[in-house]
Amino acid sequence: MKLGDVLRSGDWKSEKHVPVIEAPDKVAADQPVEIKVSIGEEIPHPNTAEHHIRWIKLLFQPSEGFTFELADVQFTIHGEGLKGPAEGPCYTEPSAKVTVRLKQSGTLLALSYCNIHGLWESSKEIAVE
Ligand code: FE
Repeated sequence: MKLGDVLRSGDWKSEKHVPVIEAPDKVAADQPVEIKVSIGEEIPHPNTAEHHIRWIKLLFQPSEGFTFELADVQFTIHGEGLKGPAEGPCYTEPSAKVTVRLKQSGTLLALSYCNIHGLWESSKEIAVE
C-alpha cells in the first residue's frame, strides 16, 4: 500500500471533506498572491470535539521537480472546555489564507485531515506569467 492509495478526493460541492483552494488562475511572477484553503465551502463539516478537521497542508508542485510544502495549518480547538467537550468558549474553523510568491507555474495541492474520515486531497493549476 502507498500513501496515495488512502488519499480520498471528490467534488467539493458534493463532498464536505474535500479541501477548497481559492486562488487566481494566473499570477505575476514573484509577486505576493493570497490563497485561501478551507473545508465545507458548500456543505459544512462538523466542528466538534468528537468530529472535526484537524489540519490542512498546502503544497506546490512546480511543472518540473519535487514538491514543496507552502503552509501547514493546524486547527487546534473544537469546543473542548472545563465542563465538557461541547462546553468550551472557542472553536477553530477549518479555513485559512496564505500569501505566497511563485516564480514558476505549477499545481497547488491541498491535503486535509478529518479526525474520523481520514485524508482528503484536491488540486488547482496556477500559471505564472
Ligand atoms: Fe469528517
